[in-house]
Amino acid sequence: MRDDLVVIAGGGIGGLATALTLHQIGVRCLVFEGVREMRPLGVGINLQPNAVRELYDLGFTEAQLDEIGIPAREWALVGLNGNDVYSEPRGRLAGYRWPQYAVHRGQLQMLLYEEVRRRVGSQAVQLGARVTGYRKTSDETVMTLVAHADGTTSAMAGSLLVGADGIHSAVRAQMHPRQPPIHWGGKMMWRGVTWAKPIRTGSSFVGLGTHEHRVVFYPISHTNPRTGLAMINWIAEVTLPNADESQLSGWFRQVPVDSFLQNFADWKWGWLDVPELIRGANFVFENPMIDRDPVGTWVDGPVGLLGDAAHAMYPTGSNGASQAIVDARILGAAICEHGVRPEALTQYDATLCGPISKLILRNRSEGPFGLLNIVDERCGGVFEDIDSVVPPAERAAFMADYRAAAGFAIHTLNAAPAIIRPGARVADRALQPAL
Ligand SMILES: Cc1cc2nc3c(=O)[nH]c(=O)nc-3n(C[C@H](O)[C@H](O)[C@H](O)COP(=O)(O)OP(=O)(O)OC[C@H]3O[C@@H](n4cnc5c(N)ncnc54)[C@H](O)[C@@H]3O)c2cc1C
Repeated sequence: MRDDLVVIAGGGIGGLATALTLHQIGVRCLVFEGVREMRPLGVGINLQPNAVRELYDLGFTEAQLDEIGIPAREWALVGLNGNDVYSEPRGRLAGYRWPQYAVHRGQLQMLLYEEVRRRVGSQAVQLGARVTGYRKTSDETVMTLVAHADGTTSAMAGSLLVGADGIHSAVRAQMHPRQPPIHWGGKMMWRGVTWAKPIRTGSSFVGLGTHEHRVVFYPISHTNPRTGLAMINWIAEVTLPNADESQLSGWFRQVPVDSFLQNFADWKWGWLDVPELIRGANFVFENPMIDRDPVGTWVDGPVGLLGDAAHAMYPTGSNGASQAIVDARILGAAICEHGVRPEALTQYDATLCGPISKLILRNRSEGPFGLLNIVDERCGGVFEDIDSVVPPAERAAFMADYRAAAGFAIHTLNAAPAIIRPGARVADRALQPAL
């Protein structure tokens, strides 16, 4: 382990994946996390095969992922008349060498957190420590400024600072002081988890409805063989007419079911009862669909942004958490090549900032759900024979295009070498100062 220290702001999925990666390649790190107590918050998220591959390369096993989720088998869009718009297999069934997992976000965070404590050390994540900003110094170090829960403040010197402090990132706010406020496109989501019977393949992601009004649901646990029930993550979503930013009421705010159930009151079919699904949740969160405008760079000398701090995006592509994990690995590879130096951040930025910024904008136009917009344009969303509205080849091409943009095109991913080859360490030559 070399002396250089990387300070990480934020112990979410991105920050913790970064800590594990740095430890793997022999670099010291310290995570400052704002919350006083780590708790398994959130509902369901998807880990795409490109991210699962990286978790395996970090030493996580299928058995561990099966504890917090379930391999996804299918992704399907269904019209309001119950007819399929599109469906495709997912994960290994689709031909990937790695599965896709649907997991509980909070349980994934806890898994990563416990593993950081076990591998890096029990003091590796300091809780109740909110990063408020940074100060660059003349000797190639950066001071991370921290406000502690006991009211004290401190400054920690490091060679690099990684801002993985989420969509409301303090590090990004300092790096881009003139960035516009959070962007909201007028859609509101309500999210919850309900124990219910899984449908279709038993592990299908289903998007049901129109481009303006839909529910998305998928299991995030294996089915209990005794009850036949699994934890079903659901997202109910509407576009609000005449939306304006003043309607933004919060982020993962707990709300009563009756505050929005009327939007889905008659969404009942023989095979699905949406009101029942929604009412079955213990907690429901209101969550405006928000993101941030892309910025030109994620790097300011020895300071870099990662995960949502770099690229908060609409969840339409189910790849926010996956991209945070991939970011951590690409940063690790750059540190292997350049050492714990700003040059590593420059390489990381050059690799990711451009393409992922494009993905942010693409997700605004619905990501893979964009197929529903096409259906709406061509037949007002009502169809009997989808092939006569959007031919199969066009549907398949639309989806393949999205997978490629999001970095999980099947053949490209399968053929790609590991981002960090097994046993790679931070390069010794990188310890030498540039001549
Ligand atoms: C509580 C919570 C619940 C979520 N639930 C869901 C969900 O159910 N479904 C979904 O799709 N996405 C959810 N997300 C978002 C999702 O986790 C991210 O989009 C994705 O995982 C990328 O992770 P990240 O590590 O970049 O950001 P985040 O997961 O947002 O993690 C950022 C971390 O930084 C900490 N932090 C923030 N500011 C500071 C600071 N100034 N100093 C130190 N620490 C700081 C936060 O407490 C958090 O632990 C949730 C995020 C949070 C924070």
